[in-house]
Amino acid sequence: MNVSDQLQRPLRDLRISVTDRCNFRCHYCMPADIFGPDYEFLKKNMLLSFEEITRLAQLFQKTSGIKKIRLTGGEPLMRRDLPDLVQLLSKIDHIEDIAMTTNGSLLPKYAEQLKAAGLHRVTISLDTLEDERFKKINGRDVSVSTVLKGVQAAREAGLGIKMNMVVQKGVNDQDILPMARYFRKQGIIIRFIEYMDVGNTNGWKMDDVFPKKAIIERIHEEMPIEPIEPNYKGEVATRYRYKGSDEEIGIISSVTDAFCSTCNRARLSAEGKLFTCLFSSKGHDLRGPMRNGADDDEMKEIIEGIWINRNDRYSQERTANTKRTSKVEMSHIGG
Ligand code: SAM
Ligand code: SF4
Ligand code: SF4
Repeated sequence: MNVSDQLQRPLRDLRISVTDRCNFRCHYCMPADIFGPDYEFLKKNMLLSFEEITRLAQLFQKTSGIKKIRLTGGEPLMRRDLPDLVQLLSKIDHIEDIAMTTNGSLLPKYAEQLKAAGLHRVTISLDTLEDERFKKINGRDVSVSTVLKGVQAAREAGLGIKMNMVVQKGVNDQDILPMARYFRKQGIIIRFIEYMDVGNTNGWKMDDVFPKKAIIERIHEEMPIEPIEPNYKGEVATRYRYKGSDEEIGIISSVTDAFCSTCNRARLSAEGKLFTCLFSSKGHDLRGPMRNGADDDEMKEIIEGIWINRNDRYSQERTANTKRTSKVEMSHIGG
């Protein structure tokens, strides 16, 4: 019931990408010149069906006792009838928490249905409150108010909410404080994410990273913060509290302060490949054996075998200057 990898890390958290498509073209994730009209996205028959996703989630649960599932993408709400999947997943025994990472744009349409289907929480991505800057970042002329309406819809539906902001030096680091102030006032936790070298298309350079230390200093100068204990072992964000309050923020520092030693996340891509690291060059096909009729015991054995052999620690190795050249795209496995 409890599998551990080569570095004694258990499998605790399953992230499921339900589509590789997105209605945004954030330049750090799906640059528009590469993900253009001719880009070949996955065809429908290559995608796992909702029944296949649910079966795999069930098998992961049985293999390793996972309690949490996160849906992601591309943009997960681009997948038709997503609430139906949430409903199927919410019926799996022992799954206590279903979350979704989204750009928020389609939440006004779906938040209530998602909540009714059993979704607990959303993480909504937003990198600035400045309209012109946001339009440039998202590559699709989407205004900030579209995302804020999504935040409002999630709130009205009773979903838990956190915000994600990817910080890029010289692009939106001036927005750290306005974002911190705004979401503090809203009573919503915001997590600042260091810009990462995921995929091969975003032209990442170490110089573009606005490091965790600088994020902390920027906020601390105006609103003093202090570190607090993680909620659980393997939590990705390090937590800070505004002094004298119970309001908090998080920082996700995959680049300057890697957390591979506690990484317990498995990532299932929309076409059924299991990735054991965000920076993997290739995934392990689970769709093939499943469609070829493997029974539950055989599938569990495959999943277990993959996890037991896992020894990924890319972010720790990256800091030792061994950058990998061929990596899966973020829009493929969803962060
Ligand atoms: N479309 C959804 C969204 O944007 O929230 C879900 C998928 S997106 C790939 C998941 C998260 O990864 C988002 O919060 C996004 O900002 C973040 N992300 C994408 N590319 C990144 C990069 N190069 N560095 C750091 N975070 C990145
Ligand atoms: Fe789409 Fe999310 Fe990637 Fe932006 S970060 S392009 S919203 S998948
Ligand atoms: Fe986990 Fe890979 Fe990220 Fe390290 S680099 S924390 S192993 S996903």
